[in-house]
Amino acid sequence: MTKTEKCRSLVLVLGDQLSTDLSSLKRADPDRDTVLMAEVMAEATYVRHHKKKIAFLFSAMRHFAEELKEAGWTVDYVKLDDPDNTGSFKGEVQRACGRLRPEQILVTEPGEWRVLEDMRSWSDAFDLPVEILTDTRFFSTVADFRAWADGRKQLRMEYFYREMRRSTGLLMDGDKPAGGKWNYDAANRKPAKPDLFMPEPKRFTPDAITREVLEMVGERFSGHIGDLEPFWFAVTRKDAEKACDHFLTEALADFGTYQDAMLSGRKFLFHSVLSAYLNAGLLDAKALCRKVEEAWQADKVPLNAAEGFIRQIVGWREYVRGIYWLKMPDYVDSNALGADRPLPDFYWTGKTRMRCLAEAIGQTLEEAYAHHIQRLMLTGNFALLAGVRPKDVHEWYLMVYADAYEWVEAPNTIGMSQFADGGLLGSKPYVSSGNYIDKMSDYCGACSYDVRQKTGSEACPFNALYWDFLDRNRKVLQGNPRLAQPYASWDRMKQSRQKDLKESAADFRKRLFDGEEV
Ligand SMILES: Cc1cc2nc3c(=O)[nH]c(=O)nc-3n(C[C@H](O)[C@H](O)[C@H](O)COP(=O)(O)OP(=O)(O)OC[C@H]3O[C@@H](n4cnc5c(N)ncnc54)[C@H](O)[C@@H]3O)c2cc1C
Ligand code: SF4
Repeated sequence: MTKTEKCRSLVLVLGDQLSTDLSSLKRADPDRDTVLMAEVMAEATYVRHHKKKIAFLFSAMRHFAEELKEAGWTVDYVKLDDPDNTGSFKGEVQRACGRLRPEQILVTEPGEWRVLEDMRSWSDAFDLPVEILTDTRFFSTVADFRAWADGRKQLRMEYFYREMRRSTGLLMDGDKPAGGKWNYDAANRKPAKPDLFMPEPKRFTPDAITREVLEMVGERFSGHIGDLEPFWFAVTRKDAEKACDHFLTEALADFGTYQDAMLSGRKFLFHSVLSAYLNAGLLDAKALCRKVEEAWQADKVPLNAAEGFIRQIVGWREYVRGIYWLKMPDYVDSNALGADRPLPDFYWTGKTRMRCLAEAIGQTLEEAYAHHIQRLMLTGNFALLAGVRPKDVHEWYLMVYADAYEWVEAPNTIGMSQFADGGLLGSKPYVSSGNYIDKMSDYCGACSYDVRQKTGSEACPFNALYWDFLDRNRKVLQGNPRLAQPYASWDRMKQSRQKDLKESAADFRKRLFDGEEV
């Protein structure tokens, strides 16, 4: 088919839909339909994404377009630097309709509310039928989650997860969970020792396509956050599967045990580093979970590792997506605790005397990656304790991680990390003093603050901030049964002690928000 010939369906494939199993591609016919893929400025800049994230997606898109062409598809690919590129999905679909005169537009539902709203306007705008298909890459649909949530007072992940285990049959022994328990989290809280052998994620050398993208991103997005190189991500399904197999053989066995650990200079520990591949479509979540189950069945990994990993995917990943679509569009504006301070400057530079945050933010700038406990108990915990506006925190997370798309990032940030939804997603705020960080990491030994001191300018800032946070937010939080014990401890403290803690926190917050280096 030549470019000016009329095609039947125009199939728009988005940058996080890079799978030949995509519902829109399954519906389409390579002999009659045309695939449209477009690198658009609006998507690369609506928040100023990390350079590595932009390069990963554009390179993976270009590789996927080649894969589709080899499989016999006609692909209309618009590069970012194409002089005619209008810079938006709507503009590019309109141009493609002019070129190809399709009878209809087919697209798999996007991962962001903003984009879905835009797509809903296309039928009128282009006077064409626009079919928005269910994304079948997930275990559950948006409608399934809505049905599960309907009429429930609480939407706890654990109960959703059990339903998912039953419906997928993963790690099930008839109608009972394998090993007799649904959740082996209690076995998964071990700190790691620095001398423990730790595998590194599989790295890939950039090919000519990736090098061209790196050059373009370096030129056009120089003002965006983060280091562009070294760039070692997989950008094809074949390589993402190699990274996955490497994780299964090298790291999965210890994934559960050290899931909550943090160590200086060890950016990945036993984490899979597969989220960017899963979320972009290079890896299939269903196939991955089956492989993990098989590894356990073959006695290659213990049950706490297999269950811990599968829970992250069929539990958390599916659950946060359900929450996102259930609660948008207002969800990202939630602010149950009325936090109103701006994001501290060091989130953009990593320059802080707090060793733990310098490590987590430093590796985020380098790799567009931090593991879960760093996101939750370091950058998230600190922002919550300091009283930063949840929307600022949300935009930062959306920007800096290569795996960040609003459907997965927003519930994790707004709900789990910042408690801004008032406890819809988490039963209590994830806050801690320096003690927890000291127990789970080796950061404190090399820190210029003293984790054992509670007040004063040399004390670990997390300590006074923790108590000040509880006191400041007492009205909203004190009825929470899971906070009964810390409130009882606070109430037992002498007033002079409480005063010292509050003054220490106030002094630290003043210096922090005045822009001093803390
Ligand atoms: C504040 C905050 C923001 C986050 N933002 C994102 C985000 O933008 N994108 C994203 O994919 N994850 C996000 N997460 C969840 C989690 O931190 C990342 O999925 C994980 O760190 C990715 O690294 P990994 O692939 O090595 O994960 P592993 O630790 O190896 O976990 C395996 C897989 O489980 C899934 N997973 C684990 N935890 C979660 C979770 N809480 N929610 C959804 N999926 C999960 C991921 O697909 C991950 O690849 C966020 C967590 C927090 C606390
Ligand atoms: S002492 Fe406090 S600020 Fe320093 S690394 Fe430990 S927890 Fe972080």
